[in-house]
Amino acid sequence: MKPLSEIIGEVESRISAACAASGRTRGDVRIVAVTKTHGPETVAEAIEHGFTIIGENKVQEAEWKKPLCPSGAEWHLIGRLQRNKVRRALEIFTHFHAIDSIPVLEKIASVAEETGAAPSLMLEVNVSGERSKGGFAPQDVPAAVEKALSLRSITLEGFMTMAPFEPDPEKTRPVFAGLRELRDRMETGFGARFPELSMGMTNDYAVAVQEGATLVRLGTVLFGERPKARVQRSVDAGDAGESGEGGGAYDRVLD
Ligand SMILES: *Cc1c(COP(=O)(O)O)cnc(C)c1O
Repeated sequence: MKPLSEIIGEVESRISAACAASGRTRGDVRIVAVTKTHGPETVAEAIEHGFTIIGENKVQEAEWKKPLCPSGAEWHLIGRLQRNKVRRALEIFTHFHAIDSIPVLEKIASVAEETGAAPSLMLEVNVSGERSKGGFAPQDVPAAVEKALSLRSITLEGFMTMAPFEPDPEKTRPVFAGLRELRDRMETGFGARFPELSMGMTNDYAVAVQEGATLVRLGTVLFGERPKARVQRSVDAGDAGESGEGGGAYDRVLD
């Protein structure tokens, strides 16, 4: 693995090139450093290298990790959130990228009202229509936006999507363009601003930036391949050990 500073240089030049190619400026795009499955030392290294946004996909994992990390970064939950973890999540995270149901939206708003938290939310949209992907179907987004706008304790900042993995990332372009167009329609329809578009990962961030991403969520390109299967599950569990086969079984046992 190359030194992180060198990798950051390469990522920076790709983002700058993608901005230049699409009439945007580098300052329009922020990087979410995705540290899931990595330990607190990786978060510390990221912060030392100037990252100010840490992305994690599980409440439980972030819960044990965050207290062991330097302060000074925003923690964003990029994975889906279940209603029964909202209270805990609001103690760790200020930003939520993958809100995918109205009940979760309402739960966040009611807990936030009670605790005085002021979370920023993005709605996940299943633009590609893949069955395996989470998020609102595009036709359900207006109702979710309307609901979000009615809740005073939260701010709807924008939208998030995940493109299918494509060996040729150019093929992901319609997904990212689709999210941008949906956002534009929501802004016009509701007379509101939804500035954030969370889209683009290691494989496809350059295309996402060209299509308007304001937050790219980067893990593998920065920190290398993540440990898989068993190792990953015991990391997720904060060394609680392994439990069952496959992520699904793990989630049911420990969530
Ligand atoms: C893991 C993850 C990422 C980062 O993926 P890489 O391909 O490693 O950059 C981005 N977004 C979400 C929602 C993730 O769970």
